[in-house]
Amino acid sequence: MSIKEVKIKYFLNSYSLFNMLIMNYTQSTTEKFTQLKNTNADITILGIESSCDETSVAIVKNGREVLSNIISSQIEIHRRFGGVVPEIASRNHIMAINSVIDEALTKANLKLTDIDAIAVTHAPGLLGALIVGVSAAKSLSYALGVPLIKVNHIHAHVSANYIEHKTLNPPFLAVVASGGHTIIANIKSFNDFEVLGQTTDDAIGEAFDKVARLLGLPYPGGPEIEKHAKLGQANIDFFKTKKGLKKDLNLSYSGLKTAVINYVNTSKQALKNDDNFAFCTLHPELTNDICASFQKTSVDILTNAIKLAIEKNNSKAIVLAGGVAANSYLKKNLQSLCKESDLSLKYPSSLLCTDNGAMIASNAYFLIKDGLGLADLTLNAGATLKT
Ligand code: AMP
Ligand code: MG
Repeated sequence: MSIKEVKIKYFLNSYSLFNMLIMNYTQSTTEKFTQLKNTNADITILGIESSCDETSVAIVKNGREVLSNIISSQIEIHRRFGGVVPEIASRNHIMAINSVIDEALTKANLKLTDIDAIAVTHAPGLLGALIVGVSAAKSLSYALGVPLIKVNHIHAHVSANYIEHKTLNPPFLAVVASGGHTIIANIKSFNDFEVLGQTTDDAIGEAFDKVARLLGLPYPGGPEIEKHAKLGQANIDFFKTKKGLKKDLNLSYSGLKTAVINYVNTSKQALKNDDNFAFCTLHPELTNDICASFQKTSVDILTNAIKLAIEKNNSKAIVLAGGVAANSYLKKNLQSLCKESDLSLKYPSSLLCTDNGAMIASNAYFLIKDGLGLADLTLNAGATLKT
């Protein structure tokens, strides 16, 4: 036999061995998935989140009991660039992921062999960042021989509320307000997510971040704007010509962002009437007023759409989720809306508003119970995903 023939034979042998291993993995994880779906015993899931600038791993029992939730944030790293740099985020996820998994197990006082399934955010988010979590999840699932569950990041934000509010069950109206998404959805059952309206351009959190950057405030802009808004008056009308109330539930934030940019530029020009006006600083009181007015307008836009959604859907409860859900002005506004309409309002604590592994593991539990979400080693990350 020639060297070439030996090489081909060797390749074919290893290829069929590889195929056999994959087939064994797929078959045994499918069987275990069915067992998990049908069992009444406890289910312990390890959830991995790496869609943006948080590397997070959590261990959650039965979808609601958090045994550990480790969040390694890259905020300090990205702050110097004024926003998240995708390439830097991916590299930092790679450096953090193994130690965050170890820490989550140690905190939960468990071993890898105690885990029944591995859950991971596969979309939407930053592609390079997601790939790190997806690769780690696939490796763990293969090595442990346990099912791999793919989780939609936006749906998982809503699940943070199942952890916070132990008796919360659908149906309800969900509002996901985050750095990448602004969605109003009708949650008919745990895995039935009907989008009623969403932003057609910038997300609400993105608008907070961009306006903060314009005002020279650090990243992330949401908490900074909230802090300055508390010191100012919401006395600026960014939309000089009032628009009529919208009839549909879609939202837009880029118009408001542009209106704030124009207002800031005009104010700076009035201070310094030459070409260098962009570099001059606004009076701190004016900065506070801009923050208060922007916060009010952006929250009003969202609240109006929510009002319309309540009327159209005869909703009984509102569930808030995502990073912007930490905003106290938004919560206060929705609280009075709910009081007026005799609805209940639920939102997670600040730690669960931000991206975290616990919401991923929680979402995976409810997927498993409906026989959904099982993935295999072909799972890939996706920057976008139809919600
Ligand atoms: P997420 O995309 O869910 O990780 O949330 C991050 C987004 O939430 C960023 O755009 C933040 O600026 C925003 N955010 C965080 N805290 C607040 C807050 N208190 N008020 C408004 N936006 C916030
Ligand atoms: Mg998020």
